[in-house]
Order: sequence, then structure tokens, then C-alpha cells
Amino acid sequence: MKTENPEPNEKSLNFIEQIIEEDLQSGKHTRIHTRFPPEPNGYLHIGHAKSICLNFGLALKYGGLTNLRFDDTNPVAEDVEYVDSIREDVKWLGFDWEDREYYASDYFDTLYEYAIKLIKKGKAYVCELSPEEISSNRGTPTRPGIESPFRNRSVEENLKLFEDMKKGLFQKGERVLRAKIDMASPNMHMRDPIIYRIIHTHHHRTGDKWCIYPSYDFAHGQCDSLENITHSICTLEFEVHRPLYEWFIKELEIFPSRQIEFARLNLTYTVMSKRKLLQLVEEKYVSGWDDPRMPTISGFRRRGYTAASIRNFAERIGVAKRDNVIDVALLEFSLRDDLNKIAPRAMAVINPVKLIITNYPADKTEIFEAKINPEDENSGKRHIPFTNTLYIERDDFMENPPDKFFRLSVGKEVRLKYAYIIKCESIVKDASGEITEIHCTYDPDTKSGSENMSRKVKGTIHWVSVKDAAEIEVRLFDRLFITESPDDVEEGKTFKDYLNSNALNVLKGYVEPFAKNVNILDKFQFERLGYFCVDKDSTKEKIVFNRTVTLKDTWAKVNKNA
Ligand code: ATP
Ligand code: MG
Repeated sequence: MKTENPEPNEKSLNFIEQIIEEDLQSGKHTRIHTRFPPEPNGYLHIGHAKSICLNFGLALKYGGLTNLRFDDTNPVAEDVEYVDSIREDVKWLGFDWEDREYYASDYFDTLYEYAIKLIKKGKAYVCELSPEEISSNRGTPTRPGIESPFRNRSVEENLKLFEDMKKGLFQKGERVLRAKIDMASPNMHMRDPIIYRIIHTHHHRTGDKWCIYPSYDFAHGQCDSLENITHSICTLEFEVHRPLYEWFIKELEIFPSRQIEFARLNLTYTVMSKRKLLQLVEEKYVSGWDDPRMPTISGFRRRGYTAASIRNFAERIGVAKRDNVIDVALLEFSLRDDLNKIAPRAMAVINPVKLIITNYPADKTEIFEAKINPEDENSGKRHIPFTNTLYIERDDFMENPPDKFFRLSVGKEVRLKYAYIIKCESIVKDASGEITEIHCTYDPDTKSGSENMSRKVKGTIHWVSVKDAAEIEVRLFDRLFITESPDDVEEGKTFKDYLNSNALNVLKGYVEPFAKNVNILDKFQFERLGYFCVDKDSTKEKIVFNRTVTLKDTWAKVNKNA
């Protein structure tokens, strides 16, 4: 996957922008109005983020407005917890729907009136076939469906029966209201689709007022019209529904929102269906919707992603007309790009071994200065205490190093970042043969930045002073799935068979004092280890850091020695 970034303003218009500019130039519209219409039946994922950035982004670009509309037509799967999380996620991404927060359920009365209008026009009827019969009578794309025996009821009878449905006189599945269109249409969605069904379930907003609910297809387009949405942007699977939406617009004589389809975002190593994500949560494969391994917006946030990195990613991938799969590495590229600019640096050791400098006074502390962020002139300096007892990474030492190993081994020299060059003199092992201490000497003439720095060495390693360091918990993550395309499963398997059982690795580490006083979601670059973010599980006693992303692909290296 190529990751160069053409500057947004150098890019030619995408096909949606072209349509919008044509509509503005021709005078068809004098303003544009988009919407983001989630169903509150799960947390938002990165695919939704793409849709949010697209809808809000277009309105911002053309001086228009965007509504947030909850498509809450199915009380069975929906919940206020989801509504709250969706609001939070859209805000966090940096978008504002002001006072335009709507619910499909706000329009239930109007949608009911619309259904009556269709009945009165002879364009809808109450059907008594069972769900199975309706389904088997639909035919196939090459074979026409069979007309329902209830198709030609009188308007009066339909009005009465629909009223009875609303009154709760029937059970689920006993009656439905269907649009009367064409059972022979080559488009299956035009074969007398169900527009109202009976569901005796409490709704999170309308309570028990209704026991009939509009189908998604009957609600969605009409809601767009009711909100005067000019450009109703949705994903490709709705292309085949468009003739139906246009039929409703024509028959109901309502505002003609124009539906435009684009390819949904798919990412490698990622499942993106809410149904599957819900399974991971309910069956406890992850700790929750905001588990840092989840591709949800809340998961990315907790992991340490910035909103800007997600917005930039959405911009970089553009809008496609054909389904495709984006390499998750591109998302990580956008992330590193942003974190590099904003994340303060610190030293942490996450797989520690003790290093003692035998010729450095035991009671001495020197304070070294380092830039908080070398990418940011205004970020200031941090102060790093140096003593004779340090932690370094266990894998920065090798007893029997190969030729090209420029870090530490007995008899060799290395620079301690911001400090001195040291030479390893000996090591101490415990009964099991594990190294417990590395003994070194330092060369006082090699202080970093000093004018008489006598010489250079090839390797530089990071460290923390044992007595000054804070103990931390570090959570390292790998991809949640072991395969690039977890939706393509072999026969007899499910996507869950491709879960990576090693996707979480918890370590105990130490961090320099600068990173001791932190708040949840604070971000750091731990030098040489990657970007890290303070997790909400942190306590006064122990800070928990999630590794957001490596600096490059060092997962395999650190993990091997963990
Ligand atoms: P899923 O298929 O993941 O369950 P959904 O389409 O049922 O998602 P909705 O809540 O209906 O979820 O989606 C809200 C909006 O987000 C819709 O306009 C939908 O087209 C868009 N959307 C959902 N998934 C993606 C995706 N992967 N890429 C781009 N847009 C998406
Ligand atoms: Mg949907």
C-alpha cells in the first residue's frame, strides 16, 4: 500500500463533490444539507468514522449543514447506551451537529400518515401471509414473484386493518403493510416490500406508544425528505434500494433528496459489522466496545488514536465507487504522522534489567535536559535524573552478540541517551541463568552535548533511573485477527476462528519522572518503543499505558522477549 499524501487542496474533486458543485451551479440547490444516520444498535466503528467525515466534511466545505439522525426504527436492538456513545464519538471526531439532533422515531406520526396516504391511493395493502410465505412468494431475480391474495383489498378494508394493527389487535407476523408496486420487477426491492411490521416491544424513546414500526426502507428516505436533506450519502448496498426510495418520493410527493452511494470502508485485519463486533463484546473476546483492540471509534480513542489522525486517514482514502479493502497500515501511518507532531517524548523501559555503573558515585544524581518534543519548537525541556542504578531494556543487551549488534554486550560500549558512554564490564546471573545485573563503567568525558565529547559510538539505548522511575503497567497489542480478511472464512468456520489469541500482552515497566503526572488519554512517545497512551484503568498507584502503535514494526522484537 502506498502511503504518500497528496495535499487535500491539490486533489481533484471526488465524484460526490462533482455532483454537489453541479447542483450548486445549476441552481438546483442553493445550499447543501447532509446527515449522518446511525442506527443506535452498537458503537460506531472506523467505517462510520469515514461516513461522518464525509458527510460533515462536505457540508463544511460547501458552507452547508449536517444533521445527526438516529435511525431508531427497530426497538429490539436499540439502546440509549448506544445513542450516548454515538454522540460522544461524533463530537470527539471534531464535528458539530448543533441543535440538529433528530430521531426517526420523531417522525413516527408523519410516517404513519404517509402510510395512510399510500393506502388511500391504492398503493399499499395489509397482507396476512406469514413471513415465510411472503419470502417464498417473492420469487428470485430471474423468476417473478407471486402476488399476494390480499393485494387487491379495498381501500376501506386496508385502512381498517392498518388501524387494527396499530391498536395492537394482532401479534407479530400476523399482518404487515406492504407497498403495492410490482411483483414482477427485476428489482427484488420493488416486489411489494414490507413497509410496516408489528413489534410489541418498548421503544427507547416512544415507549409503548407504538406496536407497529416502519421498515428501514420506509423510514430512511422519508426522514431525509422531512429534513430537506439535499444529498443523502450512503454505502453501495443501498444502490438497489434507490428506485424504491424514489417511488416513495413520487407517490408521497415529498422533498426529493438525492441518494448517492459510495463504497464502504473495509480494512485489512478488521471486521466492521456491528453484528460481529457485538458478538466479540457479548461473548467476552474483548473487554468491551472500547477495548483498545476494537475497530470502534471508542476503542481507537482509548488506544491513543487522535481524532485528527482518523480525519486525515478518511481524507487520504477518498471516496470510491467500487468496493475495496484499505491496508490498515495506512491508518497507522496517519496516526504516526500526527502523534510525531504532538506527542511529548519520554523514556520508559518495558522489559527491564538492572544496570549498575560501578564508577559513578552511589549518592550522586545528575539532571539531564531533553526536548519534550524535537518536532515542536515550543514544547520546552524535560529533566531526566541520572544515577548509578538504571533500568535498560533486557533486549538491548546480548551475551553472545552477532556481528552487527551495536547495543550492549560484555566488553562493548554504548551511549546512554542524553547521558554518557558506558562500557559493560561483567554480568550477574541468578540460579536459573537469567541475567539480573549488568555492571558497567562510564566515561566522564562523554557527557552528551558537552564540548569536549571525546568520541562517538554506534549504539544508543534508553534507560530510566531506578530510584526516580515510576512503575507502570504496559499493554502491548497485536492485530485482533490473524488473517488479513477475517470476513472470508473457510467452510465450517466463523470469523471468531481467526481471532489472535496473543493480541494482548501485559508487561510491567518503568517510566522517567516526566511521565509520572498524567491524565487519562495523555499521549507519549516512549523513545525507541512507540507511542503510548494513558488508559482509563490507571489508578493513583499505577499508571497503565496502552501502546497505541510502534514507531515502526517492532512488535515481533519486543514481544519475543516479553
Ligand atoms: P454495519 O453494517 O457495520 O452494521 P450499518 O450500516 O448497519 O453498519 P448504520 O448505523 O446504519 O450501520 O450506519 C450509519 C451510516 O454509516 C450509514 O450511512 C452507513 O452507510 C455508514 N457506514 C456504515 N458502515 C460503513 C463503512 N464500513 N464505511 C463507510 N460508511 C459506513
Ligand atoms: Mg445500516
